[in-house]
Amino acid sequence: MRTLSIFNSLTRTVEKFEPLNPPLVTYYSCGPTVYSRQHLGNMRSYLFADTLKRALEFDGFTVRHVMNITDVGHMTSDADAGEDKVEMAAHAEGRSPQELAARYTQAFLGDLEQLNVEPAEVYCRATDHITDMIGLIGRIIERGYAYVAPSGVYFDVVRYRACGRSVAEAKGSGRPGRLSRQRLEEQHSAQRLEHAPDKRSPHDFALWVLNQPRHLMQWDSPWGRGYPGWHVECSAMAMKYLGETIDLHSGGIDHIPIHHENEIAQSESATGKPFARYFVHNAFLVGSEGAKISKSAGRFPVLDDLVAAGINPLAFRLFCFAAKYRSELGFSLDALKAAERNLYYLWGFTKVARPEQPDAPFARDYYERFAEALNDDLNTPRALAAALELVAEAYRRSDLRVWQTLTALDRVMGLRLEAQLNYVRASRLPDDIQALVDRRTRARAERNFELADQLRQELVARGYEVRDRRDGSSSYAPRWS
Ligand SMILES: [Zn+2]
Repeated sequence: MRTLSIFNSLTRTVEKFEPLNPPLVTYYSCGPTVYSRQHLGNMRSYLFADTLKRALEFDGFTVRHVMNITDVGHMTSDADAGEDKVEMAAHAEGRSPQELAARYTQAFLGDLEQLNVEPAEVYCRATDHITDMIGLIGRIIERGYAYVAPSGVYFDVVRYRACGRSVAEAKGSGRPGRLSRQRLEEQHSAQRLEHAPDKRSPHDFALWVLNQPRHLMQWDSPWGRGYPGWHVECSAMAMKYLGETIDLHSGGIDHIPIHHENEIAQSESATGKPFARYFVHNAFLVGSEGAKISKSAGRFPVLDDLVAAGINPLAFRLFCFAAKYRSELGFSLDALKAAERNLYYLWGFTKVARPEQPDAPFARDYYERFAEALNDDLNTPRALAAALELVAEAYRRSDLRVWQTLTALDRVMGLRLEAQLNYVRASRLPDDIQALVDRRTRARAERNFELADQLRQELVARGYEVRDRRDGSSSYAPRWS
């Protein structure tokens, strides 16, 4: 089995990836808060998670992937300050929070489908897991790392920092249970801390929010009616579906200082075990050029904006694949169009591919190059280059027997080459029919309508439907298709 090396944010080094129970990999990646369309920057994160999962599958692992859908408790600041994003947006759109969340969950899953993201094994909605969250909060209180105050149940950060970490570290693999390595004083300095007067320390964060009568979504709990905090949702759902120590956890780098730090603190203080063995983070998509196609002023474009600009969603997938996940990626229409040209270059190969034949020996080198690049901390630009050069070499040698290799690589790239081949094959006309079509096209161009009509009759007689459009173009399809 090949081994992926990956940058682990916990140790800040590139490490060999070794799951606890190979070939199984337990994988949790942070999903969307469904209060609006996910913009392309968010999509980069989901594409990264998908590439990581596909790379592990390429190496022979079986990945059990869980992703949350947050529909309650994510405040406008990642710390507790502000309002619940879902409820605020629901109010603005004049819908119920449930309607709003259902609508944007649907849109999100639709976007993933368009980007050919492999569905997670489990998508879990926060509001379906309140009991699990309450259970976890209870355990944290029992262990002495949370306390109940009138405005909520809070995680005791100071106490955890003083003695909590040593528990997980002692029992674990020696991995420090901290990501950002910030001191407490630094951690929240950049944010506006809404200091609930009954918090012991401004660094404490809410596990359960109480006494918010205006909040629409509320549940009973041993501490009173309220709703969960965003961070505890991820911990509870990750552990429910994947166990107390998971192999792999990912998200955008913006999650490092607060969200993931808090997930680790809650989970490890409840279980005394390391929460995730590898934390992996992707960098941002940046740049002001997105404004050119964004329909909503000041916001990053969403996938629909790209499609409206005539860009294939898979071109965006390839655009992200062509960059290293740990580097900031500048959004640019030129770069997207270049990615689209590469997409169509690969799709174009399906017209000449030889799927029935075993591959020529030279293909093996490219497979190896691709695999090596991929396993080298997901060096996807180098992997993509190997795939493109494989096709170029096939043309150069006039030896087109590389399809098995190319489709093996596409199981990671996710560019739907197989589907494209099927499409091309299904829509290709038999040679004799194509010859009739060509003659008819010429006849129409020469305004020889009598001949064109005669040829139409012949095509119809052979079982083909002929459609002439107003713009002068025609389409031909077998009537049985
Ligand atoms: Zn999360």
